[in-house]
Amino acid sequence: MKCRRCRADAVIELPQHRTAFCAECFLHHCRQQVRRTIEKYSMIGAGERPLMAISGGKDSLAAWDLLLDLGYDADGVYLGLGIGGYSDRSGEYARAFAHQRGVKLIELDLATDVGFTIPEAAAQRRTPCSACGLSKRHLLNTVALEHGYTVLVTGHNLDDEAAVLFGNVMRWDTEYLARQQPVLPGGDGFARRVKPLVRLGERETAAYCIIRRIDYQVEECPMAEGNRHLGYKELLNRMEERSPGTKLEFYNGFLRRMQPLLDGVSSQDKGDLGSCGRCGSPTTGELCAFCRLTDQATDPQHRSTPRGRRGRKRRNNSRRQVVGAG
Ligand code: SF4
Ligand code: ZN
Repeated sequence: MKCRRCRADAVIELPQHRTAFCAECFLHHCRQQVRRTIEKYSMIGAGERPLMAISGGKDSLAAWDLLLDLGYDADGVYLGLGIGGYSDRSGEYARAFAHQRGVKLIELDLATDVGFTIPEAAAQRRTPCSACGLSKRHLLNTVALEHGYTVLVTGHNLDDEAAVLFGNVMRWDTEYLARQQPVLPGGDGFARRVKPLVRLGERETAAYCIIRRIDYQVEECPMAEGNRHLGYKELLNRMEERSPGTKLEFYNGFLRRMQPLLDGVSSQDKGDLGSCGRCGSPTTGELCAFCRLTDQATDPQHRSTPRGRRGRKRRNNSRRQVVGAG
């Protein structure tokens, strides 16, 4: 098997693109895919400094590396989830990358900064992944705004997006479908949220890290069991095996043909969002979902009130750390 670009021996075959690449040309392919995605969706403005959400896994570290190589001055942010040794090791991979590349990594920790861990939140009848996703969305957005970043980058890849889309379609969840875009605009309490890896699959980000010698967390999260999206991923992988290109077609077809029809459907588009009575984040209720989760996780007897956590939030703001180069 030969590399399509230079005719050297190929090291990776990409059946969804009916092609194969040698190591150098594969890296070029990844950069091209990310550069085109950033440009097509106007993800990052000229001179804008993006903040990259780092989990310590292959996708976020590959995305950070790609952004830096494409010339973006991207800083990173790592959120410790308190999932035992798994979180400890994930943080080590994030710090090691920041140290090697001489870039800034902002760190915060759910247990010390907010007062609960994901396993504790899960014990209060929440599924771990919903508590985790909610915490990441809320805290990473807050950190981005507090530090003056206007764009928050996440490492969601094509497999993630196709699985989430599959789940949203299964439930015909129009609110989520309307917000499933590679770019969610900023303003009104949100940093712009962008996903430059949506053209690359998991196999590609893993191969990218191996070729670039980026060490990343390979362990599966111990709380992932029962995660619906993993089931959808398995299903889509079986379809992809039988018919390469299925995921790309499913996701790109949605963006091209369906997404435009959902314009104006989300609460944000309709202007239905007010401010959380406690933390000020955008929400449709009196308290945002994250403040309610915090109340449940830190004090199961506590009834959520707008004032309950203000003091704790102020105390904890000072604990966030910054490591790596400034
Ligand atoms: Fe969080 Fe679930 Fe992912 Fe674990 S598997 S890191 S709990 S979203
Ligand atoms: Zn709130």
